[in-house]
This record gives sequence, C-alpha cells and structure tokens, in this order.
Amino acid sequence: MPKVYNWQISREMEYPYEGIRPHKQFAMIMDTNKCIACQTCTVACKTTWTPGRGQEYMFWNNVETKPYGYYPLGWDVRILEKLGVQDMRAFPYQGQTLFEAAPSGERILGYLPDDLDYANPNVGEDDSYGNMAQGAWLQMPHMQWLYYLPRICNHCTYPACLAACPRMSIYKRQEDGIVLLDQYRCRGYRECVRACPYKKVYFNSMTRVSEKCIGCYPAIENGRQTQCAITCIGKIRLQGFISPPDKAREDNPLDYLIHLAKVAKPLYPQFGLEPNVYYIPPVHVPPAFLYQMFGWGVEEAIATYRSASENLRLLGALLLFGSTPEIIYHYKIEGSHALGYDEKGTEVARVPMNEPIHIRAAYDEQFQTFRTNIS
Ligand code: SF4
Ligand code: SF4
Repeated sequence: MPKVYNWQISREMEYPYEGIRPHKQFAMIMDTNKCIACQTCTVACKTTWTPGRGQEYMFWNNVETKPYGYYPLGWDVRILEKLGVQDMRAFPYQGQTLFEAAPSGERILGYLPDDLDYANPNVGEDDSYGNMAQGAWLQMPHMQWLYYLPRICNHCTYPACLAACPRMSIYKRQEDGIVLLDQYRCRGYRECVRACPYKKVYFNSMTRVSEKCIGCYPAIENGRQTQCAITCIGKIRLQGFISPPDKAREDNPLDYLIHLAKVAKPLYPQFGLEPNVYYIPPVHVPPAFLYQMFGWGVEEAIATYRSASENLRLLGALLLFGSTPEIIYHYKIEGSHALGYDEKGTEVARVPMNEPIHIRAAYDEQFQTFRTNIS
C-alpha cells in the first residue's frame, strides 16, 4: 500500500491510493460549548437534501448527546472496540489506524450497521453521565456531564468510503476537497457504508444505491456556507477552507483556530482519515474522555479557549461564527470590530468585539406596556 502523510497523527500511514491534496479543502469548525441541540441544522439539511423516498431515516447532519447518544446506534464505540486499545498518550500516534488494522484482503477495518441501528436517531438525548445523589448540590468539576455533538460527513483527506468502493464511484473534488458519490456508477454494494467509521454514507433502500452529504457544493461554488452552518441557532459553526499546516494563514479564521491557536480538534484522529470537521472541545468534560474523542492537546485547547478574552485575534475568529452566510477567506481585527472578507476581498462580516448592552425601560411609553428584561 502507498504511504501518505497524515498531519493529525504526525506520521506517514498506509492508504490504498497516492495522497494528492486538493487545491482547496472544505472544512468546518463546530464549538461544542455553544450547541443547544435544537436540531435546526438537522431539519435544514433534511428539508434541503433528503426529503425523498428511501431517505426517511437519513440524517446527513445529526446532533447526538455524548456520552450515550449515537446515530446509528453505537457507531463510535463499536469501531473503537474493534480497533482495540489506542495509545493516546504518545504523539506521533504509535497505534494502528483503521487502514493499518484492516483484516487480510480488506482495505479498512469496518462494520455494517443493521437497519434497526438507524431507527432511533435521538437515542440517549439529554442522558447525562454520572450520579447526582439526593441532597447533593452543584459543584466543580461537575458530578454529571453531557454535551452535544453535531456531525456531518468530514470530507476526509483520506476518505475510507472512497478507499473501499470497488466501483470507484466515490471521488474527492480537486477544487474544494468535497467528497461526492456518483449514484450512476454505484451498484449498492455498501462497502462505503461498512468502511466509513463515522457512518456518514447511507444506503437508499428504494433506489438501491448509496448517498452521502454533498457539502452543499452548489452553495460553496457560489461563495456561501452550508445550510447547516447558516441556519445554526447557536452560531456554533464556521465553514470555510483549511490549509495544510505548513501553509497556515493567520488571517484565515479556520487556519488560525485549527493550526495556530490549536483550539479546534478533529473527531477521532486516530482512525487515520484526516477528517476536516473540527471541534472546540467542551470545557466541562473529563479530559480522558476528550482525549479519546478529539486526540492530543485537548486540555491545552480548553485552556486557550478559556483565555480568549486576552487574545484579540482568537476572540475575533470566534466571534465570526454565525456572522454571515458568506465564506470568510480573510479576517482582521480593526478597532473594536472583527471584520470578515470573502475571496474577492469584499467585507461580508463586521462584529463588535464587545457585545453592546441595551437596558430597556421597564415601562414602554410608546406602547403603554410593561416589559421584562431577561438578559
Ligand atoms: S442548529 Fe446549531 S445549536 Fe442547533 S443543534 Fe444544530 S449545531 Fe447545535
Ligand atoms: S466521513 Fe465517511 S463518508 Fe465522509 S468522506 Fe470521510 S469516510 Fe467518506
């Protein structure tokens, strides 16, 4: 098998094809500290892309509660268990990736979910970990915890779905790194469903071929962010493009947060796919759990995130989340504002670094009514 370089595990690894990085790479950052599991993103995606026959159970975007939520059922614990013990202390990663752990004659270690595994997309919602004894009071660190994990296809640099397809129906676009599936070539073998450890390829039982997230490519081609990003109520998402680490630009908010400030981390980097959706880890969750899920440096990421008010460049990048439907290519801090610019250099976002506070009078003279200030 050819060797490719995976910067997330900081070493070369086996992959069935030569590694060719696209001209631009689609990426997204999600701040788990801000997600409220309202599922607006899920509905926005569903109504845009998967409202048809055979797509009833498909959620290209889903939001699950960790540690007990999964869609499909047990997707991550099942593949983690198959992979065996992962050494998450040493960096570069010394353990096996899913490609390196492939059984003889196969390209990747995977498994095929049962149909019923997709039946309860909200299983575990709002179930917390830990006990709260009767009479106990809230203390730090929290005795109980949960957090919400929104998920889409990671448009991986080394996609397992692409590697496993015997028909070569899956391809990665050079212009933006989006991974697409050609439904005319597909014969429905479901090797991609088996291979993707994130279980983000779905089999359509009516058309008998596979389908997956298309990264809202018609929007991307027109300089706009994805549906799940622009509809996000919590403003937890920033979608744009990521550079390789040696070409990271300080004025690209994604590069800054991922490569320079290192506050955004990939999901299960030890799998070896170099996923391109990144997460700001939840600040209240035990580090051991976060290390396995988001890899190396989570504690440092949380410490940096907590000190954002002291770093204007970091604060500005975080404030640009949810500030515009356009893709931000460059940003800068100017006076009391963070400014975002599109590819042509046109200003598309202007966000105050300090949120203005407006206190309304309790009695509204114009409408002759009393109002309640809640924030
Ligand atoms: S719309 Fe945003 S806040 Fe709501 S569930 Fe989706 S990611 Fe979370
Ligand atoms: S997340 Fe899964 S479906 Fe998406 S590119 Fe990676 S391997 Fe393929």
